[in-house]
Amino acid sequence: MTNVVPFKRPSPKQKHKGKTLCRNGFHKWKVDTTQKFDVKEGRLVTVQVCERCGKTKHTLN
Ligand SMILES: [Zn+2]
Repeated sequence: MTNVVPFKRPSPKQKHKGKTLCRNGFHKWKVDTTQKFDVKEGRLVTVQVCERCGKTKHTLN
């Protein structure tokens, strides 16, 4: 019963698609919980990170 098939590799096609989306400004933003909320000029700032390319942005609440 050792029928291990490594089939969970993400296809390069999907990867490329994601990068294309990112390059067109369609990032997959997700709130970065590893970084705490930052207070900037008296306002609460949420740090968001793109799941695909790792880009970060700050959103003012
Ligand atoms: Zn991105």
